[in-house]
Amino acid sequence: MKAFTYERVNTPAEAAASAGRTPHAKFIAGGTNLLDLMKLEIEAPLHLIDINTLALDKIEQTPEGGLRIGALVRNTDLAADERVRRDYAVLSRALLAGASGQLRNQATTAGNLLQRTRCPYFYDTNQPCNKRLPGSGCAALEGFSRQHAVVGTSKACIATHPSDMAVAMRLLDAVVETVRPDGQKRAIPIAQFYRAPGTTPHIETDLAPGELITAVTLPAPLGGSHIYRKVRDRASYAFALVSVAAIVQQDGSGRVALGGVAHQPWRREDADAAMAQGAQAVYDRLFAEAQPTHENAFKLTLAKRTLASVLAEARA
Ligand SMILES: Cc1cc2nc3c(=O)[nH]c(=O)nc-3n(C[C@H](O)[C@H](O)[C@H](O)COP(=O)(O)OP(=O)(O)OC[C@H]3O[C@@H](n4cnc5c(N)ncnc54)[C@H](O)[C@@H]3O)c2cc1C
Ligand code: SF4
Repeated sequence: MKAFTYERVNTPAEAAASAGRTPHAKFIAGGTNLLDLMKLEIEAPLHLIDINTLALDKIEQTPEGGLRIGALVRNTDLAADERVRRDYAVLSRALLAGASGQLRNQATTAGNLLQRTRCPYFYDTNQPCNKRLPGSGCAALEGFSRQHAVVGTSKACIATHPSDMAVAMRLLDAVVETVRPDGQKRAIPIAQFYRAPGTTPHIETDLAPGELITAVTLPAPLGGSHIYRKVRDRASYAFALVSVAAIVQQDGSGRVALGGVAHQPWRREDADAAMAQGAQAVYDRLFAEAQPTHENAFKLTLAKRTLASVLAEARA
């Protein structure tokens, strides 16, 4: 691991200001992703800003009837919160489908949103990877791509976003709250938070350099039947091949978002509008522009079947 300096901060504004003025600085929250990447020298920050002392670990009611989830709320605590279990069950279920109990005890809300891809070539520094080393190429295009994205890809990168929680957040129309190094605050709808890979897959979100996530807010509860179904190679401790998050109302309307299929949690509003027409219509809109590789085309069949099964269960 490369040498780095370390700092603890007292306020979110102080954290962002420090990140803004220090070259190659990174925030560290639970450290469950960042430390692994540092040990492999895939991430090599020169300065670590430990944000664990910040008072960002509360889940509070908003005046609009929703919830504000502090950036440092641990995945275990969020999944177990009574209000989340009752009103946002899809979020609780998505969290519990991720990682392991020990990891969820340590992992934070903001860190989970910002975890990096699990593409094996991203982790292998002998291989070209545009996400790790911009302009070096993409080993996955001609390599093993069974786990990779089938939609929303680019010629520069076909990696998936690995988070389960982010899929539920996208379904719920969460908003990411931040503070910038100059002290300005922002609220970013999650639909605009993640970037498509395009020609710059190393730039994954709309966050500016040094911008700190302070909270994630959820709108007032939507009601309906909540399901999160994750299909994976092993029953636990494995990332999704395909996951489906759905909220279905009694009249058949609703919304769906998918994990394991794209560079970001995958949701299309025209697919939601087709909910009353049935699973095939929803699938057709979600995957209209799919471009699978020869190794991962099976994900389209898997997504279609999982979607049909989830919607049937929700309606029943
Ligand atoms: C073996 C293993 C299995 C896993 N399986 C799953 C799984 O099945 N599903 C799943 O969803 N996840 C899985 N994970 C990933 C895990 O959920 C993430 O590692 C975790 O959520 C990251 O949170 P953290 O707080 O530890 O982030 P950290 O490692 O501390 O940080 C991650 C990134 O976020 C940045 N960051 C952190 N907080 C902030 C902030 N407030 N503002 C701005 N930037 C910030 C850091 O600088 C860093 O770049 C697995 C991880 C491991 C190691
Ligand atoms: S798919 Fe993306 S992360 Fe994987 S090798 Fe290609 S550029 Fe890198």
